[in-house]
Amino acid sequence: MTERIVMQVVQETGEIVETPLTEEDLKLTWNKSVCPYCGVGCGVLVGSRDGRVLKVRGDSNHPANFGLLCGKGATLPQMVHTPDRLRYPLMRSSREAEFQRTSWETALDRIASQWRRIIQDHGPDAVAFYVSGQLLTEDYYVVNKLAKGFLGTNNVDSNSRLCMASAVSGYVTSLGADAPPGCYADIELADCFLLIGTNTAACHPVTFERIRRRKLRAPTRVKVIVVDPRKTRTADIADSYLAIRPGTDVALLNAMLHVLMREELLDEPFIQRHTTGCKPLQAILDRYTPEYASNLCGIPADEIQKAARLFGCAKAAMSFWSMGLNQSTHGTAKNNCVINLHLATGQIGRAGAGPFSLTGQPNAMGGRETGGLAHLLPGHRFVAEEQDRREVEALWGLPPGRIAPQPGLSAVELFKALAEGRVKSVWVLCTNPMVSMPNLSLAEEALEKAELVIVNDIYHPTETTQLADVILPAAQWSERDGTLTNSERCISYMEQAIVPPEEALPDWKIICRFAQVFGVGQAFPFQSTEEIYEEYKLLTRGRDLDISGVTYERLKRGSLQWPCPSPSHRSTMRRYTDGRFAHPDGKARFLAHEYESPAELPDEQFPFILTTGRVRDQWHTMTRTGKIPVLMKKEPEPFVELHPDDATRLGIDEGNRVRVLSRRGQAQAKSRITQAIKPGTCFMPFHWGSLWGAAVVNHTTIEAFDPLSKQPELKFCAVRLEKVGGDR
Ligand code: SF4
Repeated sequence: MTERIVMQVVQETGEIVETPLTEEDLKLTWNKSVCPYCGVGCGVLVGSRDGRVLKVRGDSNHPANFGLLCGKGATLPQMVHTPDRLRYPLMRSSREAEFQRTSWETALDRIASQWRRIIQDHGPDAVAFYVSGQLLTEDYYVVNKLAKGFLGTNNVDSNSRLCMASAVSGYVTSLGADAPPGCYADIELADCFLLIGTNTAACHPVTFERIRRRKLRAPTRVKVIVVDPRKTRTADIADSYLAIRPGTDVALLNAMLHVLMREELLDEPFIQRHTTGCKPLQAILDRYTPEYASNLCGIPADEIQKAARLFGCAKAAMSFWSMGLNQSTHGTAKNNCVINLHLATGQIGRAGAGPFSLTGQPNAMGGRETGGLAHLLPGHRFVAEEQDRREVEALWGLPPGRIAPQPGLSAVELFKALAEGRVKSVWVLCTNPMVSMPNLSLAEEALEKAELVIVNDIYHPTETTQLADVILPAAQWSERDGTLTNSERCISYMEQAIVPPEEALPDWKIICRFAQVFGVGQAFPFQSTEEIYEEYKLLTRGRDLDISGVTYERLKRGSLQWPCPSPSHRSTMRRYTDGRFAHPDGKARFLAHEYESPAELPDEQFPFILTTGRVRDQWHTMTRTGKIPVLMKKEPEPFVELHPDDATRLGIDEGNRVRVLSRRGQAQAKSRITQAIKPGTCFMPFHWGSLWGAAVVNHTTIEAFDPLSKQPELKFCAVRLEKVGGDR
């Protein structure tokens, strides 16, 4: 260890704090890994001694971050050794009983015998897995193989459904295949950034820092457009900030394309050669003048024009988005409309250009690759496609027809089915739906009704383990190895640095052990993650995400971007560079969408729009980041952001407790009064669950979802605000 710097952490202001290497650091063992929080996928080096993780530093060789970390990544060691760490399987005989320590044998026997009975009495679709974009690729693969191949149910859905599903359906419908075409290195080559529906500064801080540096180095040449109903720190670097009315993105994007067409800023040769569907789109766009969109979006027409021109005149334009577009009943349409802009201007498949969805979770992409949503099979295959099922069955040694042809239940559908008693048991891995699901009362009813709830986690209690019958202790980050794929299709290998505590096991091992007990162990002979990876790889051969050339040996030397079809292939920074897209005819699709309103509009009874999101120093449901004092310091509790005009009207002062009520439930938090949010809109972060004594915001959100992506509308519902103890 000869490098001078042990850690570089980017602060909220963009300042970089460097912590020098100490004598003590030289005595640590350092292992390569990846930050397990967001989809930026920053490479980290993990410093450990005597079985304890003591330090991390950014991996200066990793292409996602080149050594930089944000505050969450920099404090990773503090979440590893905690008093609530799960060390043994726990079980209870009834929901009223206390949890007791049990053996792995007893716990797995109970699950196997109860699942056998449920499947016998009600069929295989009466059981389900609810997994997570935080699982590693190998975990995802064995869960899918077990459920879809050997239990006979496609009921495997992931919390990625809440996060990325609309981006997936957007890419697949527009370009023919999932995943962003470009890479992070394009940031340093782009001269225009459209950041829409993303608070990148808070949610993807290291990627934002790259964008910010790019802007600061060429402030007049590089243009930044930020579209968000809240003026967040992301907008600090904007040349054009568009304070959009929530949910109206399709109208804005259509109007931007209208301007590009009217002002002849299109790449006609690209459109002719590489796309279809431009004519029908034109017919719809005629109506979307900036003035027409202005009425819908609440953005002045000249600002829409300015933004369109910035995008249309760019030499290389990138767009970034995340939940702000995806968590919508029209999430797929919004994704298609962003991609339309890129197709119309030829801003795709070349250096510095392209649409780029920012993944919320570290391995949402890897999960999709292995078939980790209810409609998918490994290798970007689809449950509903007969040929796809036959190929997977052949590799898994199953007779044709074994994999059910109907997609399983998506996240919201699954929790509804549990509440209605159609699904009897759910196995939750590595996530905390009792904070993150929309309409939490429905989700709570689902787990209360279920005959058997199994949860793999690293801590107890969480809001979800509290409702379980069986809790299985999982090995966590730094305690096991495996691979993940970040937002830019980049596969990284995470080394094991320390041994898991007591009886904790990696999720893949728990599933393989269960398969043995269930009587299908012959298909799960895996002794290592590498063996699983080698089998999974076979299902990618010849596919768009072919990773036949990726081996653990290569990954240990450095990350690789798929496709990487042969051992000599150097991995793929950009897709579609030859203008051939993944649809069978090789052409990308312009997809026309009219603006449609969200599922639930404000009315007299519930006059505000509630939008939910994240704060910079917390991750997901705070099971990890909530244990770290320095991360709790900035935002120690949830808050309700509202505009001063609304606050005055309601008699609410800064710091008053405010009740947020919807048709489904209520939440409470202190008010934060700010000009940064549009009047008529309020915002709450979603991180805080009931264990924090908080009235959880997702009790108010709506479970309505996009019909294609099935991603719920967590960004928009109608609420009423009341000052707690107030007389208005
Ligand atoms: S939370 Fe995201 S941006 Fe921060 S260090 Fe981890 S991967 Fe990087």
